[in-house]
Amino acid sequence: MLSFWEKNSFLNYDIIIVGSGILGLSTACEIKERFPEKNILVLERGILPTGASTKNAGFLCFGSLTEILADIELKGEAQTLELVEKRWKGINYLKERLSENKIGYHPYGGYDLIDTKHSTAIRKMDGVNDLLRRIFGKDVFAVADSKIKEFGFDAGLVSHLIYSPFEAQIDTGEMMKTLIKYAQFLGVQIVNGAEVKELSGGRVSVWHSALGEQITFASDMVIICANAFMNRISQEPVVKPGRGQVLITNEIEDLKLKGIFHYDEGYYYFRNYGKRVIIGGGRNLDFKKEESYEFTYNDMIISDLKNKLDKMILPGVKYEIADKWTGIMGFTENKLPEIKVIDSNTIAALSCNGMGIALSSYIAREIAVLSN
Ligand SMILES: Cc1cc2nc3c(=O)[nH]c(=O)nc-3n(C[C@H](O)[C@H](O)[C@H](O)COP(=O)(O)OP(=O)(O)OC[C@H]3O[C@@H](n4cnc5c(N)ncnc54)[C@H](O)[C@@H]3O)c2cc1C
Repeated sequence: MLSFWEKNSFLNYDIIIVGSGILGLSTACEIKERFPEKNILVLERGILPTGASTKNAGFLCFGSLTEILADIELKGEAQTLELVEKRWKGINYLKERLSENKIGYHPYGGYDLIDTKHSTAIRKMDGVNDLLRRIFGKDVFAVADSKIKEFGFDAGLVSHLIYSPFEAQIDTGEMMKTLIKYAQFLGVQIVNGAEVKELSGGRVSVWHSALGEQITFASDMVIICANAFMNRISQEPVVKPGRGQVLITNEIEDLKLKGIFHYDEGYYYFRNYGKRVIIGGGRNLDFKKEESYEFTYNDMIISDLKNKLDKMILPGVKYEIADKWTGIMGFTENKLPEIKVIDSNTIAALSCNGMGIALSSYIAREIAVLSN
């Protein structure tokens, strides 16, 4: 049973945030920066954040050319541009908040690998540049075919490379550690190993395993940032899980590629991390199976990722897979971020649809305004 002291000092807050991924923590920081007097608790089910934010590939990106073209087809020009702008602003807010040198920031740029299937993208590039100029002030995409050889890609499989100078890479682990430290510096209390099972009217229940009893925290406002796991505690917004699998190689002495790389409308992604290569994606090979909450592997996808390394990305290069992991993303039907006011005490928010590193700091601002 809780002591008088615990009940008196640990159970009541102005705001409780569920989930300590990048969205939950950015929201906590945003509110604290605006309203330092607010007492904020973040409840995280894992010993570490256990969703997508510590599992991703560390791309600071807003959409490759083929991805933007696919989005325009799905959502139309206006919504696609709005989303790109939010991602771009979010990237800049993240850098402003944490500073480049504390997130392992490297502005090496980004590339889209174009195969024959996507070759029409090349002639649509100028049109997309015209659309994006309003946001970036200059051309975002340029053909960079000379780099195909320089990076060592198989020229039979990669017909063109599209370069964007605005994209960058970060060290995901450093970024999240810095964000946690910054939230704590602002006075946000983070409790790990606290899985929220139920919530209503600003009250949030968590199982206290050491005591063997349920304890209830109370607040004026609960903000749910549980991403893929949202629908376990809130019916809205409707979110489907999508697993992402990632491989990292050993150090490769003469590694030629540098930057972040997208392929096949963003379904595949790879980058250098120093002299290593990180590659992930391939969800589109088995959408049904990858709609999963499990941090396990799909052998077919793992072997496809290795095949992409062998044949397309590192042909003729000797390397080994040093490690692998999985993370779980959350997807809404229309692939747009969503902030849902559930009732006068509860907001549920989702920033990601696979690009939450970019979007979260932007969405956090919108949530902070609503939460007051
Ligand atoms: C493999 C992979 C690669 C990716 N690569 C990139 C990339 O390069 N660039 C990019 O922009 N995005 C990338 N993403 C997407 C990005 O990581 C996510 O969009 C972003 O991390 C989402 O942040 P979040 O805070 O909304 O969710 P999450 O990080 O998933 O955080 C949700 C948190 O809520 C916690 N939680 C859930 N339920 C409860 C509960 N009931 N009680 C308490 N806590 C709970 C979870 O444990 C988790 O820590 C990638 C994702 C994956 C999986």
